[in-house]
Amino acid sequence: MTERTLSIIKPDATRRNLTGRINAMLEEAGLRIVAQKRTRLTVDEARAFYAVHRERPFFDSLVTFMTSGPVVVQVLEGRDAVARNRDIMGATNPEQAADGTIRKVFAESLEANSVHGSDSPDNAAIEIAFFFSARDITG
Ligand code: ATP
Ligand code: MG
Repeated sequence: MTERTLSIIKPDATRRNLTGRINAMLEEAGLRIVAQKRTRLTVDEARAFYAVHRERPFFDSLVTFMTSGPVVVQVLEGRDAVARNRDIMGATNPEQAADGTIRKVFAESLEANSVHGSDSPDNAAIEIAFFFSARDITG
């Protein structure tokens, strides 16, 4: 089924100028970038976006990291886009990520792991609406 998912290129990756190489991997896997913007998250935005993790010990560090530089937020569209994007990203911990995945190739650490991807279609809809209006998305 054609789906949409939210993707974020995280500050460790924008700092190393990896936006194009990461997006080439997403596009080569069949996903289309149907909305995109480069921005810098405020602390309030990062706390709200990752609110599900607010009780976790790594939350404050994650917010500091996610606000440490620019991010590229984008909507990906394609067949089973949520799961497909997660497959291309690889496991959260790059040491456990499969060969050829974005995190295996590019991630610096468990925290600075280069990309975010929505983990379910329901969360994808919520996360897309966090950053984009319907008008911003052009298939
Ligand atoms: P994301 O939501 O960014 O796509 P994910 O779904 O693979 O990643 P989550 O469990 O949702 O992983 O964690 C969100 C993010 O928090 C991770 O991508 C990583 O940047 C950071 N993180 C997760 N676990 C840890 C940890 N134990 N220590 C430090 N940072 C962590
Ligand atoms: Mg997650």
